[in-house]
Amino acid sequence: MSLNPKKLEGKVAVVTGASRGIGRDIALLFASEGAKLVITARNEELLASLADEIKKAGHETPLCVALDVKDSEKVDEMVDKTLDKFGRVDILVNNAGITRDGLMLRMSDEDWDDVMDTNLKGAFICMRAVAKPMMRQRAGRIINMASVIGLIGNAGQANYAASKAGIIALTKSAAKELGSRNILINAIAPGFIDTEMTRALGDDIKNTILKSIPVGIFGKPIDVAKTALFLASDESNFITGQVITVDGGMVM
Ligand code: NAP
Repeated sequence: MSLNPKKLEGKVAVVTGASRGIGRDIALLFASEGAKLVITARNEELLASLADEIKKAGHETPLCVALDVKDSEKVDEMVDKTLDKFGRVDILVNNAGITRDGLMLRMSDEDWDDVMDTNLKGAFICMRAVAKPMMRQRAGRIINMASVIGLIGNAGQANYAASKAGIIALTKSAAKELGSRNILINAIAPGFIDTEMTRALGDDIKNTILKSIPVGIFGKPIDVAKTALFLASDESNFITGQVITVDGGMVM
């Protein structure tokens, strides 16, 4: 027996929103732990450059599928391609997400719909697409990216908070539906993680947020990726329907 067996050796993992930020680090970490990857996002070039990086690091070349998670036909096709290439799908990380912040009174229907359709409906579409093959396999892991904002709400983020609270309810419902088929479904609720999504915020807002984090620093994408690895690996075999907060103590 190897002293350091890879945690995802031979597992087939689909990661959405893999082109940058948290999803990118999840893909890199999963590849280094032996997973065969399907990486998706809308930006084809960023996916290709990530696939190249993973290949150059000596890991199996990922399958890149450029898609919008709102497009159920494209998502179904992506799962078909995954099964054609790898024969199974063991892990789905529903990470793709956007913000369209603004006060509720001034929020447009379009900004509401964009966020709900991408963050919540997109995650549902991807879960539905992998559920059948996972049921046939009688095994699967689904990790949904929620947010602490889905737990506590936030002024200026009614759409985002509702989508992330919805992700938590979706996670628990699906965990109850699919638990008997050995499909474990959990959510991660990151706090403030330094990515393009949060870099756009002004310094005043960032400083206020920093004061609310007991450990006194912002998180890094790899902090979330390591939690995703735990939830995707055998180390979490008896955990389902849970929300793990990765936020330096911001919400407790
Ligand atoms: P990010 O850097 O903006 O990356 C978002 C990813 O989602 C990109 O790869 C983007 O790729 C993809 N994406 C967006 N819309 C998509 C769509 N319609 N179809 C397919 N892919 C789409 O954001 P991040 O900070 O890494 O966030 C990742 C996840 O963590 C999100 O769900 C976010 O809500 C959650 N989260 C982040 C934080 C934080 O502090 N950063 C905190 C809590 C939760 P393309 O643009 O190429 O499509």
